[in-house]
Amino acid sequence: MKFKRKVYLDNNATTQIDKKVEKKIKSFVKHYGNPSSMHLMGKYTGDMVETARKYVSELINAEPEEIIFTSGGTEANNTILKGVASLLKEKGNHIITSIIEHPSIIQTCEFLEKQGFQVTYLPVNSDGLIDLNELERAINGKTILISIMTANNEVGSIQDIKHISEIAHGKNILFHTDAVQAVGKIPIDVKTMDVDFLTYSSHKIYGPKGVGALYFKTSKKFENLIHGGHQEYFLRGGTENTIGIIGFGETAKVMIEEGLEYNNKIKSLRSLFLNSIKEFFPNVKVNGPLTGGLFGTINLLFPETDNKRMVALLDYYGICTSTGSACSEGEKEASHVLKAIGLSNKDAGSSIRFSIGKYSTKKDIKYSVRKLKEILNDKISLQYLSPEELNESIILNKDYLLLDIRSNFQRKLTKPIAKAELLNCFKTDEYFNAIPKNKNIILICELGSNAVNAGYKLKKRGFSNVKVLLGGYLSWKAIHPDLFRKYIKDN
Ligand code: PLP
Repeated sequence: MKFKRKVYLDNNATTQIDKKVEKKIKSFVKHYGNPSSMHLMGKYTGDMVETARKYVSELINAEPEEIIFTSGGTEANNTILKGVASLLKEKGNHIITSIIEHPSIIQTCEFLEKQGFQVTYLPVNSDGLIDLNELERAINGKTILISIMTANNEVGSIQDIKHISEIAHGKNILFHTDAVQAVGKIPIDVKTMDVDFLTYSSHKIYGPKGVGALYFKTSKKFENLIHGGHQEYFLRGGTENTIGIIGFGETAKVMIEEGLEYNNKIKSLRSLFLNSIKEFFPNVKVNGPLTGGLFGTINLLFPETDNKRMVALLDYYGICTSTGSACSEGEKEASHVLKAIGLSNKDAGSSIRFSIGKYSTKKDIKYSVRKLKEILNDKISLQYLSPEELNESIILNKDYLLLDIRSNFQRKLTKPIAKAELLNCFKTDEYFNAIPKNKNIILICELGSNAVNAGYKLKKRGFSNVKVLLGGYLSWKAIHPDLFRKYIKDN
């Protein structure tokens, strides 16, 4: 895909791969030996994996034997919650976490609740912080594990991890922290934090995706999540993702060598961004901590706006942002984090997360501010069609043109309406010239946001009768299951 201008402000979702890491991965790809093999080729790869482990551990001041590689933060979180629960179930069945954790913690806790465990989800204040007294009160004789994230992915709040760990250890309870958003953004030292387990992930720190790590004090045991091999000290079976691990090692090395200096730049970009927006949109509000949080995470409430529409319009200008965490982006529910810090559903639906990273520039920020201003003062208003309104009389009407701009993959999962024209969502521009201007166009995407982007493009090209299907094809299917069955392709 080519963009006229690309501004990436979604660094909490994932980051661009560092050039040095890219180079390292490219040079490593030819080494395909299996680290478990006895021959030299395998030994070479095995050595590279151990070198990576050295850097990845050093990044958080751990020892190499205290680190196992996983497929990412999600797996590391699952491993610890399920692994401790399984090992200590005779001792107790109570786990404490917070209400603003990542879905890989919340949904794993929900799974454990179904297995008979009890979970306390601590609330947070408007700054996204738990109350330590409340934590102490929540502990009971059956508590086996406390898991509280170091930094939040949506609003950037940073918990007092050292203090939480003191409380946990004072009661002889294990403590895990999900530090996926903290590593690379604030100094992380497992020795001073005194945590038993810590999760982190490569793709949030300019390394490749699909690889992460779990730190564990070697004295603290947990049951395997993945059985089936001697790899990773018998704690995680399966042939290692060697390419990912080598990339993760390199990104850790770069971070150790270069330090976290770029955070100063991120801090000043944050001020520039906030101050410039306030100049033309004084009603903007910062969700989460004003100070003391992650500099790069800026969650803003633009009252009376629709965040999905805004994110789609920013996307139209090549600016990548998000309405919440990448893992919950497709969900229709308002962000659980924003609701937890006290926002109404409506305000959560008017909030956007901008996450600045080490490659962000002053130019990016200035461009984004300019475009935000244009969008907020926008005269081009799109029209919407509710899913209820897309009925048989429209489907069969020759004056209407239904444009399905979902991906081929999405169309395989949910078949399109037979009458709809199918447009490649990555190449909409190429087809726009072929669209007759006299038709009533209805743009249909999966969840309603990509169609806003396309609708905006059409409007700018002079198409006057354009409507976007609200909530996308999935909402329509849920509301009209009968029409869906009657009019989908292949029927
Ligand atoms: N924990 C937090 C706080 C995150 O932000 C994320 C990813 O967004 C994860 C865990 C999951 O990490 P991964 O994408 O490596 O599975």
